[in-house]
Amino acid sequence: MKALVLKAHEEIILEDVPMPALADDEVLLKVAACGICGSDLHGYMGHSARRSKNLPLIMGHEFTGVVVEYGKRVSTVAKQAFPIGASVAINPQYGCGVCKACRAGLSHVCPNMTLIGIERAGGMAEYVTAPAHRLFKLPAGLGTVAGSMAETLAVEVHLFKRVMTPYTRTVVVLGAGAQGLLAVQLAKAAGAQHIVACDIVPQRLAIAKKFGATSTVIGNEENVVKHVMTLTDDWGADLVVEAVGNARLRQQGGQMLAIGGMLALVGNFNGVTNFDFLPIITKEQRIFGTYCYTDDDFARALEMIASGQINVGDMLHTISLDQSVEYFHRLIEEPGGLMKVAIVP
Ligand SMILES: [Zn+2]
Ligand SMILES: [Zn+2]
Repeated sequence: MKALVLKAHEEIILEDVPMPALADDEVLLKVAACGICGSDLHGYMGHSARRSKNLPLIMGHEFTGVVVEYGKRVSTVAKQAFPIGASVAINPQYGCGVCKACRAGLSHVCPNMTLIGIERAGGMAEYVTAPAHRLFKLPAGLGTVAGSMAETLAVEVHLFKRVMTPYTRTVVVLGAGAQGLLAVQLAKAAGAQHIVACDIVPQRLAIAKKFGATSTVIGNEENVVKHVMTLTDDWGADLVVEAVGNARLRQQGGQMLAIGGMLALVGNFNGVTNFDFLPIITKEQRIFGTYCYTDDDFARALEMIASGQINVGDMLHTISLDQSVEYFHRLIEEPGGLMKVAIVP
């Protein structure tokens, strides 16, 4: 089969590889669509230690597929839920099942977790295997390309379910890439009064407006902290979502927080941020880290895309496997208006 293989840092090649071996409790899928995640770009650039450990690696953890074949011990229940030919989305992540985190019901942050596309071959290929318990049926009417956005949306659902209330007045989203644009939509769905989106790419801000941002800020031209303070009569933001993973944005997020406000960190960033913690104490603010999603967040994400509550169509750009190497370069060098690229093998 054809697969996109990460061989070494900055070396990714489209080549013929053997079909994946089918384990007894797993399902063989023909990949229908697979999104390229920002973290895959980090993997390509050699900034993802988890991926670098597993080279050569077929990446891709945001995918949908069609059921082709079952392993010998796949249960009758699973076969009935996911018949041959059914279109499914895959929650690519599962815990070890035996550590303290897993036993505390926190398998989505299991220190021994497996993520399909990082710890094992993923969806940037014609075929992929996955444990039967990772399959989710696509809701009626949901296509496989839109369905491949469920993984990305599940990250934001996991956050918003826990921090957003219908009374949250002002939400600021720092970074209007895929995660940020989904955050804008969830803030709108939950009823925020002001939704401010900040990015350095004007095309992304135009989409953010379409998705419900009430005002936008070009980050390298206007001071986003000032903008938010003026907008809120010096009260500040009740919820700030940092969706980039950038030290400066984290600091700014802290500076614009309202009394009792929350700074939610979604963007992955490996490094130290200088941060004044005094206001966190005296203004009873909170810093909230959020990572991955539960099975229920994943299911909810699929439902919200299927119902049209969340618009993913305007964010997606589809390409073939043959174009994928070129797009890896484009996404790193000049992403411009590309918000989410999905490979359709
Ligand atoms: Zn991802
Ligand atoms: Zn575990």
